[in-house]
Amino acid sequence: MLQFKLVLLGDSSVGKSSIVYRFVKDSFDEFRESTIGAAFLSQTIKISGSNGSSGELGDTVIKFEIWDTAGQERYKSLAPMYYRNANAALVVYDVTQQDSLIKAQSWVNELKNKVGDEDLVICLVGNKVDLCDDDENKRVVESREAQDYAQEQGLLFYEVSAKTGFGVRKIFESIGEKLYET
Ligand code: GDP
Ligand code: MG
Repeated sequence: MLQFKLVLLGDSSVGKSSIVYRFVKDSFDEFRESTIGAAFLSQTIKISGSNGSSGELGDTVIKFEIWDTAGQERYKSLAPMYYRNANAALVVYDVTQQDSLIKAQSWVNELKNKVGDEDLVICLVGNKVDLCDDDENKRVVESREAQDYAQEQGLLFYEVSAKTGFGVRKIFESIGEKLYET
C-alpha cells in the first residue's frame, strides 16, 4: 500500500469539504458547517497500473491522508503547515464565482514558490458544475479559460460536482496514478 498526503486549498465556500465528504463518505450535506482550522480524513482507492519491472497489470492500493483546510483569510497563515509535506494539492474554485478562480491562481503561485512543483502534484478543480444546467446556468468561469490556465501551469484539471458526485472520484484516481508513476 502506498500512502500520500493531500491538501485542499481554495476560497471559503467553494466546496472543499463537500468534495472530501463526497470522496470519503459518498454523501453530500447541503448545510455543512464551515471548517475551523483544518479537518483530517483518510480514504483508500485501488488503481490499476503496471507492477514494477514485470510489467504485469495489477491493483495497487493507495491511501490518501487528506487535510481539508479552512479558506478564511484568518486561517491563511496555517496553510503552509498543511502543504509543506504534501504529495498533492487540490486547488478548488467555484465555477459560479470568478473571484474564486483568481484566489485559486494565487494558491497555485504560492505552492510553486514555496514547495516547488517537481515535488507536488497540483490539481485545479472547478466545483459546482451541477449549477450549469441549460435552463438556469450560473456558470461564469468557462471550462476553456481554466483548462488553458491549468495546461500552461502544468496542472491536472477537472470540473466536478460534490453535490451529484460527478467527477469527484476521477480527481483522486488520476492523482493516485500520477503519484504512483513518479
Ligand atoms: P468549503 O468552505 O470550501 O469547505 O465549502 P463547503 O464544502 O463548506 O460548501 C460551501 C457551500 O457550497 C455549502 O452550502 C455547500 O452545500 C455548497 N456546495 C458545495 N459543493 C457544491 C456543489 O457541488 N454544488 C452545489 N450546488 N453546492 C455545493
Ligand atoms: Mg470547509
